Amino acid sequence: LIRFDGVTKRFGSNTVLNHLDFTVDAGKHVTLIGPSGSGKTTILRLLMTLLKPDEGTISVDGEYLTHEEKNGKLVPAGERHTREVRKKIGMVFQQFNLFPNMKVLRNITEAPVHVLGMSKDEATERGRELLDLVGLSDKADAYPNHLSGGQQQRVAIARALAMRPKVLLLDEVTSALDPELVAGVLDVLRDIAHTTDITMLVVTHEMNFARDISDDVLMFDAGRVIESGPPEKIFSEPEHERTREFLSAVL
Ligand code: ATP
Repeated sequence: LIRFDGVTKRFGSNTVLNHLDFTVDAGKHVTLIGPSGSGKTTILRLLMTLLKPDEGTISVDGEYLTHEEKNGKLVPAGERHTREVRKKIGMVFQQFNLFPNMKVLRNITEAPVHVLGMSKDEATERGRELLDLVGLSDKADAYPNHLSGGQQQRVAIARALAMRPKVLLLDEVTSALDPELVAGVLDVLRDIAHTTDITMLVVTHEMNFARDISDDVLMFDAGRVIESGPPEKIFSEPEHERTREFLSAVL
């Protein structure tokens, strides 16, 4: 469902991703791990089209994100094409970025109504279902700043799912939370991982969570995947010295 082909991304002289190839099959949950600065967030930002690759192609659900085909030739994607492909992707960030002037339910229904053209009734019904899924049925009419960080992050998860994305990107979604609020958010994500068919690409420092939800773990170092496999293998019998070093520092 997601394919990176020879993707290189540089910031000035810093080559952050170096001819990176990887794929994520539909419905799979893949976690990216690796030292700080190894390029994990850059991958998610490329998928959100917040950045453009210097080389290579990225496709989602069979369509190029970075390019489009015109007269049988691949040309850089136009704004409209990018917007269409990006609708397939939802993202939750470290910072929740809720709309502070809108109540919780409206935070969730706003984009389905205005971007997808969903009717208000349908968006509201779906919004309430999603609030139920994230355990916040009773907060529909609250304003975000009256919620705890963990609750706000659960609203952000519901908001991302409201767009019915094929892919959910999670970028260190618990890093900004007080420790006692982390478990509630991870439980909601475990539930989503185990009960929906959504494809997930996850960057996290929560290794137990990664072990629980991942079909595959990709270990990054210096912009390349140096080792990949099911979590049992990566966490218990890593082959690469760099993976062993990284895991002994974080576990
Ligand atoms: P962390 O776990 O610390 O978030 P990461 O693996 O997600 O690390 P990235 O955030 O992808 O790493 O960053 C990779 C490298 O790219 C770092 O060296 C970072 O300084 C650099 N970088 C990221 N964004 C930019 C930018 N907008 N301009 C310049 N350099 C950047």
